[in-house]
Amino acid sequence: MATVPLNAPGQALSAQRAELLAITARVIDSGWLIHGPEHRAFESELATFLGTTFALGVASGTDALEIALRAVHDDDDRRRTVITVANAGGYTSTAARAAGFEVAYCDVDPASHCLNPAALESVLDDSVFAVVVTHLYGRAADVGAVRALCEPRGIKVIEDCAQSIGARTQQGRAGSLGDIATFSFYPTKNLGALGDGGAIATSDSALGERVGLLRQYGWSSKYRITTQGARNSRLDEVQAAVLRFRLPLVDDWNERRRWIIRQYADAASDRIHVLEAGGPWHSAHLAVVETSDAAELARHLERRDVQTAVHYPIPDHLQRAFATTPPARLPVTENLVGRILSLPCFPELEDAEVGQVCAALASY
Ligand SMILES: *Cc1c(COP(=O)(O)O)cnc(C)c1O
Repeated sequence: MATVPLNAPGQALSAQRAELLAITARVIDSGWLIHGPEHRAFESELATFLGTTFALGVASGTDALEIALRAVHDDDDRRRTVITVANAGGYTSTAARAAGFEVAYCDVDPASHCLNPAALESVLDDSVFAVVVTHLYGRAADVGAVRALCEPRGIKVIEDCAQSIGARTQQGRAGSLGDIATFSFYPTKNLGALGDGGAIATSDSALGERVGLLRQYGWSSKYRITTQGARNSRLDEVQAAVLRFRLPLVDDWNERRRWIIRQYADAASDRIHVLEAGGPWHSAHLAVVETSDAAELARHLERRDVQTAVHYPIPDHLQRAFATTPPARLPVTENLVGRILSLPCFPELEDAEVGQVCAALASY
């Protein structure tokens, strides 16, 4: 039995080899490598897809977070704290610290694993200027409830959509629900580039303009530096052209991902709880299960040639580089760590491979 991989971005590359070569040739022939026609078109097509006024390309999802945080900060030095969750891989913590902001954590909801609005109120104080809501595993988090708490306090809401592109709620797509949103096009995300890439979306024209300045040296026009805290973070023409080709495929790919998770949910033994991902409000980026002993389940699956991983094994507040004294207490987040496991989930996974995972889940 061949091993079912957790991820295989190479399979999408070989399936699209001819198109990707033609796209690369088109960019080479255009003579544009940075901020040219492909980039302009991608920004406009992404904004249309999301239902926002602006989408701006940047170099990665982490850059997108850092630039979005800088964009929403209003230079009030009494307010320099960002609130986020500690179970989403540490990207927001990295970005906030790179920008010189403080980070504090809010616990998550035990069912959705996303930020728990009921736990948010107690961590919102006068030092907070932004809350980053991660649509974890692809599940659209409850942005409305977060906004209801933040807006009266003048706190901005940033959606981290690195895992959730395409997820659609009754209020609109993930990325159109807060003040500003960030995306990653890392190759294994639901919309992947041929390398690194990211984007920021907003319908606030002042924020959109600020992002445009912050991502390119603070230039208001060439060589005229008017904005502090800026840097260089650009999405190149090859990535933009590849993303234009792939963006219209995302909804179908997400449907296939949801189908895979449904098969796992139907097959799993009653010792395994497959996190729900059954509707368009979920991009099914990761197939995550909960069980009393995730390490034991991982060994069971490994013996049946199924790769797994933990997203994520160390919560931010327990990372050595981020530790605070006294350490934050996040009981729900901490309790989930030994219980979660991610299963293979990507559109190119074959039915027989899904069947192999299902059989392994059923026999546990
Ligand atoms: C992948 C990811 C990021 C970071 O994206 P990069 O492009 O790798 O910098 C940020 N947030 C979440 C939730 C992610 O999954």
